Amino acid sequence: MTRLLLATRNAGKLVELRRIVETADLGGLTVLGLADVPEFPEVPETGATFAENALAKARDAAAATGLPAVADDSGLTVDALNGMPGVLSARWCGKHGDDVANLELLLGQLGDVPDERRGAAFVCAAALAVPGGAETVVHGEWPGRIIRAPRGTNGFGYDPIFVPEGEERSSAELSAGEKDAASHRGRALRALVPHLAALRV
Ligand code: IMP
Repeated sequence: MTRLLLATRNAGKLVELRRIVETADLGGLTVLGLADVPEFPEVPETGATFAENALAKARDAAAATGLPAVADDSGLTVDALNGMPGVLSARWCGKHGDDVANLELLLGQLGDVPDERRGAAFVCAAALAVPGGAETVVHGEWPGRIIRAPRGTNGFGYDPIFVPEGEERSSAELSAGEKDAASHRGRALRALVPHLAALRV
């Protein structure tokens, strides 16, 4: 059985990555999280792009554990903020990982922005690093808009204020299956599936 490490410390992402990989019918692959391997220090996210950060996280996890590792770097790009918060999405309020403070700051910043200029997209780069072997990076994007108040309790991060294109519900009001089918992370991970399938022995 080949083991694959999902190298993320974000609980919301781990749930989604695991669900998407396990739905992909990859028999012969055992999926592990960071809780299943000995602890190793986290790399600081200093890359200028989602791809650089995703690759750094996957490469580091593969080197530390000797296992093929998948990592994602993702975030929200808002048109009215010239693409920000982008790679800074997780620490937009000034501190890492405070989802509510991040979302409230963003809503305040967009307070005077009219409906027709509230376009945004979730973006995901997903990287696979094989110890001493190949490195692959793929991308997924999910276009939509930012609403004026949070709605829904599913998902994580900015989900309650993001309404995907063609939807009236926020992404925090979608079921897990609906989010995975359309989301930036779902799209990126599905592009990685042939590379994951090739890992099996
Ligand atoms: P990072 O990839 O660890 O830098 O963190 C990405 C940040 O972007 C998360 O902390 C969330 O705030 C946001 N984000 C990424 N993907 C999603 C998503 O699917 N829903 C909501 N927020 C997301």
